[in-house]
Amino acid sequence: MSPRLYLPRASITRTLRGGLAFLALVAGLDLAVLTADAAPQRARPRSEASASPGRVTLGGVSYSDARAAFSRLGYKSAWNAKTLDLTLTSPSGVVVFTADSREATVHGMRLFLGESAVLNKGVLHITTIDMERFLLPMLRPERNAPRPLRVIVIDAGHGGNDSGTRSSDEKLMEKTYTIDVARRLQRLLAGGDWRVVMTRTDDRYIPLPERADIANAAKADLFISIHFNAVANGASVRGTETYVLTPRFQRSTSSAKSSPEDKVEAPGNRHDAWSAVLGYHMHLKLLSKLKTEDRGYKRARFAVLRLVNCPGVLVEAGYLSNAGEARRIADADYRGDIAEALATAVYSYSASLASARAAAAK
Ligand SMILES: [Zn+2]
Repeated sequence: MSPRLYLPRASITRTLRGGLAFLALVAGLDLAVLTADAAPQRARPRSEASASPGRVTLGGVSYSDARAAFSRLGYKSAWNAKTLDLTLTSPSGVVVFTADSREATVHGMRLFLGESAVLNKGVLHITTIDMERFLLPMLRPERNAPRPLRVIVIDAGHGGNDSGTRSSDEKLMEKTYTIDVARRLQRLLAGGDWRVVMTRTDDRYIPLPERADIANAAKADLFISIHFNAVANGASVRGTETYVLTPRFQRSTSSAKSSPEDKVEAPGNRHDAWSAVLGYHMHLKLLSKLKTEDRGYKRARFAVLRLVNCPGVLVEAGYLSNAGEARRIADADYRGDIAEALATAVYSYSASLASARAAAAK
């Protein structure tokens, strides 16, 4: 069915976002969600306006036609009616969405959507928030790029009385390895055209809001929080997770259903689009360098991500509760690899900023 058939319902509002004019069916979706970007909007000539991606409101939630939206980015689509997979292919990579699943594959990485993809009248849809605030910025960084990176804040998780997670034999503590990786990353980034600020440089306890305060006082352009995970029951659980802040009006990856806090706009939400770009580079680089199990690119409302006034990411590089992974984390060379992956991602993110600025200048 043509996505156009969804259009002439309710009020159709013309709005501007990301430099492209498009039609938005706003029923059920706060318009502020679509327009509240960090950078000022820059109107483009009307001739650059693209066709509507095709919207439908289901259960009060706005959904976008995935095939239509991705075809505008140059992706070819293939629908498998048996597996209910929509495979989208372009020279830059393959994206797969599956009906009734929050899990997607984007350029080789696992990624979790805010809500499951939905098959509506034979057309696969994903939520408009996932599309507009997560996927499209990630795959086609917006033209309204923030300023070049001047201040990068590295946040070594835990410290002092808060030792964080531990290995199953209780011998290895998360706080020891987060500060080690943070120091390595600091050294790797030292040659860049920016200042690097650490939220802690020794083994001390710093409350979460204070970590964000340090970043905000330093006028951070980027916030990287380093952690190692653990589970109480599940010695086989291992791998790497990357988190960015959950957008407003969505539930976090670990939440089974919506909650009142989903409606709260946090300072960090002003930077959803560029956090999406940052998390994408971080997760890809970690997976390719460490060859760890891909636990997914996820979203959560961690305090530090909520409170920072810049794009932010929280990395759970591995599981201390998994014996094999704990052994690797205890190895200095491996921690060097983690820091290297994070540093490479910072440079990739910086390159994305530069190309978005170059595109805007044309
Ligand atoms: Zn932690």
